Amino acid sequence: MATTKTTKPIQTDILCVGAGVASLSTALALLRKLKAGGCEKLPRVMVIDKGRNVGSHVLSGAVIDMSGFDGLLTADEIKKIPVEARVNGKRESFHMLFGESKSMKIPWMPPMMQAHGYPVGSLTKLTQYLAGLCEKEGARVYTGFAAVELLEDDKGRVVGARTGEKGIDHEGKPKSNHLPSEAVYAKAVVLGEGACGILTEKLIKRKELEGDREQAYAIGVKEVVEVPADEKRVGEIAHTFGYPADMQTYGGGFIYHVSATQVMICYAYALDYADPASDPHALFRKFKAHPTVAEHIKGGKSVAYGAKVIPEGGCYSVPKVVADGALIVGDGAGLVDTLRIKGIHLAAMSGRAAADTLADCWKNDDFSLKALQPYAERLRATEGWKQLRRVRNVRAPFSTHLTFGVACAGAAWATFGAFPFWQVPMEADYKALKVLPGGRMPEPEALEATPTSPDRLTDVFMSGTIHDEDQPCHLKILDRKKCAECIKRFGAPCQRFCPAEVYRLEEGRIHVDFSNCLHCKTCQIKDPYQNIEWTFPQGGDGPRYTRM
Ligand code: SF4
Repeated sequence: MATTKTTKPIQTDILCVGAGVASLSTALALLRKLKAGGCEKLPRVMVIDKGRNVGSHVLSGAVIDMSGFDGLLTADEIKKIPVEARVNGKRESFHMLFGESKSMKIPWMPPMMQAHGYPVGSLTKLTQYLAGLCEKEGARVYTGFAAVELLEDDKGRVVGARTGEKGIDHEGKPKSNHLPSEAVYAKAVVLGEGACGILTEKLIKRKELEGDREQAYAIGVKEVVEVPADEKRVGEIAHTFGYPADMQTYGGGFIYHVSATQVMICYAYALDYADPASDPHALFRKFKAHPTVAEHIKGGKSVAYGAKVIPEGGCYSVPKVVADGALIVGDGAGLVDTLRIKGIHLAAMSGRAAADTLADCWKNDDFSLKALQPYAERLRATEGWKQLRRVRNVRAPFSTHLTFGVACAGAAWATFGAFPFWQVPMEADYKALKVLPGGRMPEPEALEATPTSPDRLTDVFMSGTIHDEDQPCHLKILDRKKCAECIKRFGAPCQRFCPAEVYRLEEGRIHVDFSNCLHCKTCQIKDPYQNIEWTFPQGGDGPRYTRM
C-alpha cells in the first residue's frame, strides 16, 4: 500500500476492528455494563469495518444459538432480532450422502445438531441490528474504512490502527478523490476481523501467540435460492455430510428454508484436501445436483452468492487471545464449534468476556497487559468454551478417513470430549496438497449451467463484489519463480480453489483479476508455497452481501 500524507491522528478509547458479532457485542456490552454500574464518564468506543455497509462482508448459515446474547440483549431486543423463521424440529434432518445419487437419512437427529425453535436468519441483518444498538448506546460505527496496519509504540504495545488510503491509482499515485490514511489511537484495540483476519494473523505471528495446534479451515460456499412458495417448509432445515467430498476430506452442507420462497444453501469443504484439482465452487454445484439436496431447490433460481473460510481447528488451535494493548475475539480467535457448525453465540460470548475486562480496565484506568489478561480467563469460563472443549478433537481425525472421523466424533461427544485422549495433531492446510503427476491439471468437469447451478462468474456477479480497478492489486504474488514452480508441480491450484475465478492461468503465467475477490481468504491459507499475500483493497470495496 502506497503511503502519502496522513491527517491529524484520531483519539478514541476503545477501537474495535471489524463490525462482526464479536466486535459489536464487545462495544455494546462494555457501554451497557459501565452505564449500569453508574459510570459517569463513558469511554469513546469506535468500530471500523472495511465493508461498504455493516454486514457487507459477513457470511454465515445462520441458525442462531441465542445463548450468546443472554444478558447482553433485553427480552424486547431479542424479540426484535431480524429473524426470518424458526427451526421446525419436526422438519430437521441429517443425511449422509454417498456418491452422486445415494444417501442415508440418519433416523434420529444427533442431539448436538438439534435446533428446534432456534431463529434462522441472515448474519448481515443481525450485525446491522447489533450495530444500531451500539450506536444508540453511544458507540461510533464507521464502514468503508479498512484498518490496514496495527500501530505499536516503541515497546511493541499495540496503541491503535492505521486506516488505508482511498483513491490511489494502480501505480499508487493519489487521484482527485484521494483520501489519506488516518491513524486512530486507542487505549485498547479489539480485533474482531473474522476468520483469518490479516492484522490478527500478523499479530499472532509477531507476538508468538499461536495455539497448541495449527488452525484448520474450511471454505464455505453459499447461495440464497428463491423457490416456488411452500409455506409447509418454512423452518425446515437439513444438514448433510460426505459427498461430493472424498473420503479423506471433511465436507458437508446445510439447507435452510428461511421463508416460503427462500432457501439458504451452503457446502463447506475442508482446506486440508490433497487434490490440487479440487474446486470448491464445482463441488458446491455437484452438491446441489444430488437428489437429496436438489429437491429442496427444485424450480428455483439462485439470487445471491458468497464465500468465506471457517476456522475448524477447535480449542487447541485457539491462539493466546491477549497481547499488550489488544484482544482477539470471535472467529479471528477460531471460536467455532466444528460439530454444530456454530460460531455466532461464541462470538457474542467472547465479546462479553472482552467487555467485562475492558470495563474493569476503564474503571481502574489501567489498560496494561496485566489488566487485559483476565479476558483469557473469562473466555475460558464461558459456557461456549466448555462446548469447544467437548469437540476439541473432532476435526482432526477426519483427515485420516471419513468413517474414522465419524466414529471419533461420536465417541468424543459421548465422552464429553475425553476421547481421543490425546491431542490429535494437525498440519497447516497448505501442506496437504499432493503433487500432480506430470504437473498436469485435469480439464475442469463440464457442469451444465441452470438457474440453481450458475457458473462461477454468474455467482460472482450475484455477490455484488466491486473493486475500483484503478488501484494497486490487493493480491500480491510475492515471487514469480515460486509461482512457476507451483504451476509445474501442482498445476496452479489457485485457479481452482478460488471461488471467484480471480486467478487465471494463461500462457504459463497466473493473471489476477482482483476485482472479483470475495475476501474469503482461501488463497491466503491454501497456496502451497504461501506465495500470495492478501493485502487490503481500498475501504468499501469487496462483496456487498445483503442477506448472507
Ligand atoms: Fe478468496 Fe483469494 Fe479468491 Fe479473493 S482471491 S475470492 S480471497 S481465494
